[in-house]
Amino acid sequence: MTLHIPFDNTYAGLGSGFYSKQAPEPVSSPRMLAFNRDLAQVLGITPGDLPEMAQVFGGNRVPEGADPLAQLYAGHQFGTFNPQLGDGRAVLLGEVIGTDGIRRDIQLKGSGRTPYSRRGDGRAWMGPVLREYVVSEAMHALGIPTTRALAAVETGDSVWREAAMPGAVLTRVAASHLRVGTFQIFAARRETAALKRLTQYAIDRHYPGAKGPMGLLRAVRDAQARLVAQWMSVGFIHGVMNTDNCTISGETIDYGPCAFMDIYNPSQVFSSIDRMGRYAYDNQPGIVVWNLAQLATALIQQMDDPQEGVEEATEIVHAMPGVIEREWLSRFAAKIGITTPKEGDMALIEDLLDRMAAGQADFTNTFRALAGEAARGQFLDPGAFDSWATTWRQRIASEEDPEGLMRQVNPAFIPRNHRMEEMIAAAVSGDLAPFERLMDVLVHPYEDQPEHRNLQNPPRPQEVVPATFCGT
Ligand code: AMP
Ligand code: MG
Repeated sequence: MTLHIPFDNTYAGLGSGFYSKQAPEPVSSPRMLAFNRDLAQVLGITPGDLPEMAQVFGGNRVPEGADPLAQLYAGHQFGTFNPQLGDGRAVLLGEVIGTDGIRRDIQLKGSGRTPYSRRGDGRAWMGPVLREYVVSEAMHALGIPTTRALAAVETGDSVWREAAMPGAVLTRVAASHLRVGTFQIFAARRETAALKRLTQYAIDRHYPGAKGPMGLLRAVRDAQARLVAQWMSVGFIHGVMNTDNCTISGETIDYGPCAFMDIYNPSQVFSSIDRMGRYAYDNQPGIVVWNLAQLATALIQQMDDPQEGVEEATEIVHAMPGVIEREWLSRFAAKIGITTPKEGDMALIEDLLDRMAAGQADFTNTFRALAGEAARGQFLDPGAFDSWATTWRQRIASEEDPEGLMRQVNPAFIPRNHRMEEMIAAAVSGDLAPFERLMDVLVHPYEDQPEHRNLQNPPRPQEVVPATFCGT
């Protein structure tokens, strides 16, 4: 069979101010590491044979209908505005409309230098590529909006990080790659006409019901509020929530230094470059509000009456913590078996979380075990759980099927960091079996899979991965 991708491109039509046309740079000897057949089917892509797909998804052959380009954007990185970023090591091949009617971007990441590479080499190595492949697909299986992974290709070239590492290219699929930073660059440059075009494009593509810039702001607020609540509910720490990594669609993007927590610690940070803890677990809800404020600031620049814009935007942004709290409460209530939260439930959940932190309980395993009898064993002092559980059992006595609900929302399997490191080490030495096993298990995160029980275990002390790196 011959690979066929039914491209239908619109971003290229926005005009040359939005991107630079840029073909991927060829690689030495591309070899497929992984191809996501289920996703290809959703996208309406006909797979080809492996050598042909390696040529295309490795960047050596631009497929028919593609119109490769590097997108322009800016962004606040750790709170500091960088007026020009852009795809420094990625190209958008184009868009397809899936069998579900949804338009999605197909992007190669690690595909070589672009006009926006600055001092970077435009490349990625196999570790972060496989990491993103596994974690983004695990997120999708958890039911959390995310970019997805269509293919991973080994390039046959070395990439220099701290040492020479095997290069790789990821094919990333996204509802779009529009970010807060895409709006910021045109606002910062006072290019009002471009900002207006972009705003209309974003509305048409993601929120056709939204009215004007403030309608868009409100829709992004609600999508980002839902997203951060979902991250919190599975113990996910994004790690680099810069405004260029914050999507308009509300999908999780950019799996650089991210990680899922093992032991519950609300101030947990993994990223080695996050020295101030800006993107710590419990700071994430505050940061999405901060990021939305940056989007508001950018959007206002196109309003005819800026004063009116400021007032409406302020009201929308100020309401966001309340929206996040409601999203958070409904998800955490479900995690303890409550369908509709009521007065007092917030305190009940917070009390459990405080005891989990004090008792060094594993986040995932504690919630999963609530549906059985094993949760108390997760705590250093099981009595601390017992005294909470007395009140809790009284509260859920009136719920219809708390056990069923809890098993639906509390995953058994998450991509634990130590397993990811183990998978990467094996892949670098040519063994993809751990990668394939993780993929098999993580696509069914809510099912008990007794034969894979050891993937539920938290790391032993010598296996703990203390930090993750942006050196992607
Ligand atoms: P990130 O932290 O991955 O979101 O990247 C921030 C910016 O740095 C984006 O503009 C990336 O395209 C760029 N970048 C990251 N890594 C590289 C690289 N190896 N070569 C060129 N640009 C890069
Ligand atoms: Mg990024």
